[in-house]
Amino acid sequence: MIRLDKFLSEMGVGTRQEVKQYIRKGKVEVDGEIAKRPELKVDETKANVTLDGERIGYASYVYYMLNKPSGVVSATEDKREKTVIDLIKGQKRKDLFPVGRLDKDTVGLLLITNDGNLAHRLLSPKHHVDKCYFAKVQGNVTKDDAEKFAAGVNIGTEDEPEITMPGKLDIIKSDDLSEIRLTIQEGKFHQVKRMFQAVGKEVVYLKRERMGSLILDDNLAEGEYRMLTEEELKNLL
Ligand code: URA
Repeated sequence: MIRLDKFLSEMGVGTRQEVKQYIRKGKVEVDGEIAKRPELKVDETKANVTLDGERIGYASYVYYMLNKPSGVVSATEDKREKTVIDLIKGQKRKDLFPVGRLDKDTVGLLLITNDGNLAHRLLSPKHHVDKCYFAKVQGNVTKDDAEKFAAGVNIGTEDEPEITMPGKLDIIKSDDLSEIRLTIQEGKFHQVKRMFQAVGKEVVYLKRERMGSLILDDNLAEGEYRMLTEEELKNLL
């Protein structure tokens, strides 16, 4: 059971205040009767809730695409730092979490959801879901680096090697400050930065552009987010 105003605002119909107004104006019906009180408890699995005659279903899962800005951490809560969940405004599910972690200074595509199964499928290396990054790297990135990445590099130590799965490195520009795209299927801690370290180079800018079929929407400025479209979700599930 859930409060009617919470139900409606969680489904993106409006802010809690806006939703209360709709209810007061008699625009909302529950099981065929006009609902007068925002605090009315409804069974979200069964109730037939309408706004201006249009049915509002209660989705168990929600999915947001965020263009993560630099300076926020990929966590649900943090005592000191602003988190990616703090960027989701208004009424929101309490069980939201980011699918995987981007470093504090990494920008770009981050999926935020409460769907644990999907998160597992996207993150598990067994499922071979591509994660594609654009990066600026200090120094000339070479074909030799691409060959090393294709073979797998050691991002651990000599004593405790940690060999990456093959990664596909596309060199966009090889210069004092090179530009590259790297596609990998794992998500080890600082993986992209450590892969470049393994070939003696430093990543100075990192942006995730794609995860599986999900491509970062160009219209989202850093810090902005939107719900996934039905098409995006269908392709991802
Ligand atoms: N690899 C990194 O090094 N950092 C990220 O944030 C993501 C992938």
